[in-house]
Formats: sequence, structure tokens, C-alpha cells
Amino acid sequence: MAILTTNGVPVGAGSELIESSWQQQIKAAIRDLDQLCIELKLPQKFRAKIDAVNQFPVFVPPAYLSRIRPADPRDPLLLQVLPVIDEDTSPADFVLDPLAESASITQPGILHKYAGRVLLVTTGVCAIHCRYCFRRHFPYEQSPNSTDTWRPTLDQISADGSIEEVLLSGGDPLTLVDANLRRLIQNLDSIPHLKRLRIHTRLPIVVPQRVTDELLDMLTSTRLKLIFVVHINHVQEIDQHVESSLARLANSGILLFNQSVLLRGVNDNAEALIQLSKRLIECQVVPYYLHQLDKVVGAAHFEVSIERGKQLIAELRAALPGYAVPRYVREFPGQASKTVLA
Ligand SMILES: *Cc1c(COP(=O)(O)O)cnc(C)c1O
Ligand code: SF4
Repeated sequence: MAILTTNGVPVGAGSELIESSWQQQIKAAIRDLDQLCIELKLPQKFRAKIDAVNQFPVFVPPAYLSRIRPADPRDPLLLQVLPVIDEDTSPADFVLDPLAESASITQPGILHKYAGRVLLVTTGVCAIHCRYCFRRHFPYEQSPNSTDTWRPTLDQISADGSIEEVLLSGGDPLTLVDANLRRLIQNLDSIPHLKRLRIHTRLPIVVPQRVTDELLDMLTSTRLKLIFVVHINHVQEIDQHVESSLARLANSGILLFNQSVLLRGVNDNAEALIQLSKRLIECQVVPYYLHQLDKVVGAAHFEVSIERGKQLIAELRAALPGYAVPRYVREFPGQASKTVLA
């Protein structure tokens, strides 16, 4: 595959992949540290042997790779996907299940923590592997992965009239093929007390080709109010293709929100966060949450202190309209909602 120029314009053979279908993007993803380093012209020292890669392999589709500047070890997109040796020496307070999610699994694949809304773990598959991911050790193999095995989950939602909103999460729910997604949405649509369907996904960002006409058709044919929470950490993730995919979602009447994770070296400065917020508003996306990093094994090198996070939010508040300032939150196991830090 060809390396792309820094302004995001594909050169050579890469251009076909950039225009390819989302499934081709997944198939063509880079799954190997050596290959990632070669594609991005990174120095040899980045190709160290890292044990954590065995549990959580490299995974970067071409459409995302094209937004990473070659030969720049500090690129804010690269840092999100590049395994580093620090992952193998995690401090003791970084654990496998930092949010104690296993305690909230009332049925395999369903997390019911907060009033009125339940989260469905629809798949363990993602279109990218983010090194800071708090679910990088989640027991996905215990979650249902077909419509048949979703039946008990759907029955549980049907039986609980207090649930108004279902969140599809994962993994990434938009890695499901359309037929499965359609069936799941239809099943949820037929539960009378449900009002809203929220999809937590990074796919419109990572592989914007996922926002197809068929997907939009499916999303607009349910009576449920659709909400997307996308996940962008840095403004450089929004290229033209992402912008147009977001516009197609917004113009279909879908509410769009963004969540970011505060990540050392990626977005832990006011300028980066301000640029991101401004660009999100241009793309009709409301900055929703800025998450304090969850202390998951392998992610300690991304940690930013809460003190610093609060200071950044104060700088954002001084520079931006109120609607463009995300809530800085942290999740504490056992609380009735996420906790707002600033
Ligand atoms: C974060 C989360 C939600 C959604 O919380 P909001 O504050 O409504 O965005 C729901 N369920 C679970 C298990 C969550 O972790
Ligand atoms: S896309 Fe989301 S769930 Fe998947 S690895 Fe990244 S942060 Fe984790």
C-alpha cells in the first residue's frame, strides 16, 4: 500500500483503498507492528517486541492510516494506535476491568448501570484498536453475537418498562453487517416502551465509508429517536470524507455527540481541544464528554492528571461558547452516573 502525503491526498495505489468499501477497509487493515512502522517510515526502535500486542493486536485500516503523518513519532493519531514497550510494565493500580463492568452484566452482553438506559455489547470487533481502550480486556466471548443469542437480552429489555433508551456499544456496533444490525434495530423498535436508540461508534470517523445509503435508510426507518455518540480525540481525525459522512448522518435527523478521552501527547493541551471543539461544531457534532482515562492495564502512559484536566477545561471555557465545552467526566464503579469533574 502506498504512503499518503501529509495533506491527506492519497498518492499511488493507496487511492483505490481510500475509495473502497468499508468491508475492504477492514480487510486491508494493518495488523502488524512492523508493517505499521514500515508504512509510516518510523525508526527501527519503534519495532520492539511488545508482549501486550499478543492480547491486543495492532489494527489500523487504510482510511485512518492516511491521516497519520509519516515519519512523525509524535503524530497524535499514531500515538493512539502504536503499541509501546510501556504497555508491558503496567503500574499496579491499572487493572483489567477498571470500571468493574463485570459486576453490572445482568445477562451476557448487557450492562445496566444507569437509570432508564441499558448498554448492549453487540460485538467485540472494532475497526481500529485504540491502545488506551478501557475494554481492551473485556470478556467479549461471553457476549451474544447473533440475533438468536440476543433473545434473552431482548426479553430482559421487554420485561423492564423503566428502560427508555438502548445504547449499542461494543466493540463497535457498526462493524455488524447490515442484515444483523437491521434485525437488531427492528427487534428493539418493536419494544413499545423504548423511545431512543443510541449508537456509540468510532466507525464514521475511522472508516467513514461505513456511512452508506443502506445504513442511513436503516437508521431512518425506525420510530426510535436516533443518537450517535462518535469518538474523536484530535482534529486531525476529521478529514473531508469524515466531514461528509457526519453531514449525511446529521442531515438524516440523527443527533450527533462526540466523546474524547484525555490522552497524554494526543490532546492534553488547550489548543488541541479548542481546535477539536470548533471543528466538531462545524460538523454539527456537539462535544459531549471528555473522559478521564480509565486505569486499564497497558494504558498508563496516556494518563493526564485530573488537576491538569480541570485546568484545560477552564481554558476551554474562557475561549469557547458554552455549548462547545465538553463535560470532563470520570466513571467510578457503583455510581448512578458518570461523575462530572469540571
Ligand atoms: C456511559 C454509560 C452509559 C451512558 O451514560 P450517559 O451519561 O447517559 O452518556 C450507559 N450505560 C453504561 C454502562 C455506561 O458506561
Ligand atoms: S473503537 Fe472504542 S471500543 Fe474499539 S478499541 Fe477504540 S476505544 Fe475501544
